[in-house]
Amino acid sequence: MSWTDLARNGRILVVDDAMENIQILHHALREEHEVLFALDGEQAVQIALDQQPDLILLDAVMPGMDGYDVVAALRSSPRLQDIPVIFVTALSQPEDETRALEAGAVDFISKPFNVAVVRARVRSQLTIKRQGDAMRELSMTDGLTGVANRRNFNDTVDAEWRRCARAGLPLSVIMIDIDHFKLYNDHYGHQAGDVCLQQVSAAMKRCASRPQDMLARYGGEEFILLLPQEGPDGTEVVANRILEEVRKLALPHAASPTTPQVTLSMGLATAHPPLDSSDPSALIRTADANLYRAKRTGRNRYCSDTN
Ligand code: GH3
Ligand code: MG
Ligand code: MG
Repeated sequence: MSWTDLARNGRILVVDDAMENIQILHHALREEHEVLFALDGEQAVQIALDQQPDLILLDAVMPGMDGYDVVAALRSSPRLQDIPVIFVTALSQPEDETRALEAGAVDFISKPFNVAVVRARVRSQLTIKRQGDAMRELSMTDGLTGVANRRNFNDTVDAEWRRCARAGLPLSVIMIDIDHFKLYNDHYGHQAGDVCLQQVSAAMKRCASRPQDMLARYGGEEFILLLPQEGPDGTEVVANRILEEVRKLALPHAASPTTPQVTLSMGLATAHPPLDSSDPSALIRTADANLYRAKRTGRNRYCSDTN
């Protein structure tokens, strides 16, 4: 996709207390974009939460919550803080513009505006927004397998730990390591090893598909599965599903002393509510210890605190 394409088809929220202004902007933008509108600040924040627009065109002077209040509300919300805002306003003094930019707006357009200029500025801000989104996505994803990377896992496990602690819920993890993977590389070559990692991670991903579940690449051929709200029984169900899915893949591994197919070993660990320690590192250490027990006792299996 080219950067020109990235600038089109955005979802734009137009906020203005004068319907007439909304109509002009709607007319100017509707061919290239989906246009939503709000007639006051409170409505704007609500629509932004519900519809997650890519860009907001915001009137500065409105009764009640004005444009500056709206920007402040957006910036303090984790779900809204990355949405760029362009002020569109009859205020035209340099200090008005400065105040808008300092409040967190990305651009400032004075009324009366030229429609072609508005279109061009909207396109340019959408391009920047999409580039930023793509960069963020890349920085959180493992390049080879497309699953979450370790940094993404670390951030997510901390947030989920706090959420489960507040809600009185358990949280489980499964540490996963491919068996005899060094021998796989030695036998089939490193490139085949890469393909194997992709296939195994795709199979594992199919085994835990609730929205809050997260599979991450933790190290070379080591993965970790985060299962918020899951107790020991559900975690064993997922572990058995993973063993079964990888068995069904039936990837040849002629050099493996375990079986002539690719297998993996897992360590399970569950933190039971109330989650009292301040962070999940002890839980991850437990999963790691159980993984090494699974390796020592024959591989191609899982171990938990109860087996
Ligand atoms: P075990 O059953 O005890 O886990 O043995 P193992 O050989 O799997 O474990 P070891 O830690 O000795 O070796 C891991 C191997 O994984 C070595 C390394 O070359 C390989 N590996 C790590 N990352 C990648 C990768 O991105 N691509 C490929 N092809 N191989 C990788
Ligand atoms: Mg291994
Ligand atoms: Mg390893």
